[in-house]
Amino acid sequence: MTYDVIVIGSGPAGLTAALYASRAELKTLIIAGFEPGGQLMKTSEVENFPGFPEGIQGPELMEKMIKQATRFGAQMLSETVKQVNFQKKPFKLTTEKGDYESRSVIISSGADAKWLGLPNEQRLRGKGVSACATCDGFFFKDKEIAVVGGGDSAMEEAIFLTKFAKKVTIVHRRDEFRASKIMLKRAQDNPKIEIITNTTITDVLGENKVEGVRLKNLNTEGERDFAVEGLFLAIGHKPNTAIYQGHLELDKVGYIQVSSNTHTSIDGVFTAGDVNDHRYRQAVTAAGMGCMAAIDAEKYLADQE
Ligand code: NAP
Repeated sequence: MTYDVIVIGSGPAGLTAALYASRAELKTLIIAGFEPGGQLMKTSEVENFPGFPEGIQGPELMEKMIKQATRFGAQMLSETVKQVNFQKKPFKLTTEKGDYESRSVIISSGADAKWLGLPNEQRLRGKGVSACATCDGFFFKDKEIAVVGGGDSAMEEAIFLTKFAKKVTIVHRRDEFRASKIMLKRAQDNPKIEIITNTTITDVLGENKVEGVRLKNLNTEGERDFAVEGLFLAIGHKPNTAIYQGHLELDKVGYIQVSSNTHTSIDGVFTAGDVNDHRYRQAVTAAGMGCMAAIDAEKYLADQE
């Protein structure tokens, strides 16, 4: 059977795209990945998704989105797309279980924050270790926290975090910064921010919550423990686009390029969410883009007929 729309990915972008496509009576399949729900499945409280004035746990929000997305007939499979063929129509997608054909495709396979790979980093994720200041900053009122990275994200997140935190220490491995001069200056001029250079973090300390980080001075090789209650990673994101290399236009860091709105370089293939957005990266913006991609796909299919 040939679907009208196959949605790759099941975060807010993919599920919203599937909701709109299936509600428009398009035969819709969501290839959800091995663990449906995307990045929010690993978040605790979400307080900035409209409609939940008391906040909602990330996994509960995603369960609700899955229910709503499948309510109008979209099918969902916990499989992972391994290969794509966009050369011929209908498009063909291959997962570990088989091949699927579709007249249009919406790619919303997301991006993952880069992690340092420290021994206790993942164990303390959600317990003081975070890769999203906008999502989790609020939980660090009057606390001392560290931000790792020397790019614009690190400066922006550190400045944002000073709204809540008592003190923010930026830890950067070099003494030169990728951050733009203006962002760096803003961070340097902020009385709540201290910047430590030529230093790496070698571990996160704490049993059930973050109590500190271990710092290594790269000039002296000396290590010391540094008391903080939070560690924010701002060392970049990696879009999940390895399988599209050579099939679609990607930018130099691997994000899917859009020609207009949600259209990719292949007619009939659309994209939404963090896989092509490195700027906003919010559940609500991803959901909005998912809606746009479904409307664009619907219009494309109507034009084909
Ligand atoms: P980025 O510019 O690539 O910077 C990543 C930073 O993390 C670099 O300082 C890098 O150090 C450091 N880093 C990477 N791996 C590390 C590791 N394993 N251990 C320690 N440090 C590590 O990434 P980004 O800051 O996320 O920015 C991405 C893009 O978005 C950029 O083009 C940026 O300008 C843009 N952006 C713009 C804004 C804005 O304009 N408001 C805000 C955010 C992002 P090294 O320098 O030593 O490699």
